[in-house]
Amino acid sequence: MSTPPDLGAVRAWTRAQAAPVRLALACAEHPDPRSPRPESEASVRSLVVRVPGCLATVPRSEVVGLLVDGALDVVLLLDGCERRDAALDRFADLTALFTPAGGPGRVTSPRLSAVVEPPPSDGGSLPASAPVVMNGASMPLPRRTMLGAHDPGRTTTALPPHATEAEIAEDGGTDHADLLAALSVLMERDASVLMERDAHTPGPGAGPDPAIAAATAGPGLLLRASRCTACAVCVRTCPEAALTMRIETGAGVLEQRVDACSGCGACLESCPAEALSVRRRARWSEQLRPQVLPLAVVETRVCARCGAHTPDRGADLCEVCAYRRANPFGSILPAEIAGARA
Ligand code: SF4
Ligand code: SF4
Repeated sequence: MSTPPDLGAVRAWTRAQAAPVRLALACAEHPDPRSPRPESEASVRSLVVRVPGCLATVPRSEVVGLLVDGALDVVLLLDGCERRDAALDRFADLTALFTPAGGPGRVTSPRLSAVVEPPPSDGGSLPASAPVVMNGASMPLPRRTMLGAHDPGRTTTALPPHATEAEIAEDGGTDHADLLAALSVLMERDASVLMERDAHTPGPGAGPDPAIAAATAGPGLLLRASRCTACAVCVRTCPEAALTMRIETGAGVLEQRVDACSGCGACLESCPAEALSVRRRARWSEQLRPQVLPLAVVETRVCARCGAHTPDRGADLCEVCAYRRANPFGSILPAEIAGARA
């Protein structure tokens, strides 16, 4: 599997700028990247960046991170992308989240959008205002940034309001966790700058719009469970630590952290009892605040042999220990050996 493109240099460059910028991201192979910047917004510096790899695999958290770093909007130039549909799918829920309430024609910030059609032909000549195209793998940084000087006016800390650093470290910093962290930082910014703004007086972006977040589906799934046996296989499978099995006196309680769910579906695949199903996609507003959903309460007892909590079926032993007691030499011989002994 190829390594996802690293936007670290682009993010560092964006943080180092004195004023917000508009960024258009194109893949390394894009034949003719152009920024779709309207002339009315020409006062804002606009830049095309060739990312070092495919836009269909760029980490979602890194793209939203550019808005946290101070980009006024980020446009994905997919018109030259060989995997255009995959890239569109990958970012569909995010571009929907950042679509202004009044439609794409409204000017709000921050914005995250995708362009799928090439710009109209200009007869081969670039307009005088054509933006600079830079290599995302080697962005130039000001000397003071390289020497470690910090601009106190720019905040880039990306912790969600409900997560501690320990929790983020614990979940391994998956792209979903990092994405929520970046979105939470944007949500925490002064809501007044989210209002429809004059494009000639830009400031750092806030948002996304809470009304859009409440109406738009995010990546996560709201699960339901029936016939759960409290085996906790799903808990161990979930890469986001979104599922927990809480053991109470006489019961196992399966719970889902809705905000942590990335919608990968691994739990659905792994459940040996096929107990899990999807109620619906979680809305972004449900993913951007901590929320625990109880999925199942299973009466349990402690296995008299191994001590594990096991569904209470009126027996002293769990299923594994009951099998081992009934079949102390219960391993199955390979067919050729079994055949030779017959
Ligand atoms: S779909 Fe299931 S396994 Fe995947 S993150 Fe959500 S709860 Fe975890
Ligand atoms: S949902 Fe399935 S995998 Fe998860 S604890 Fe219940 S039975 Fe086990």
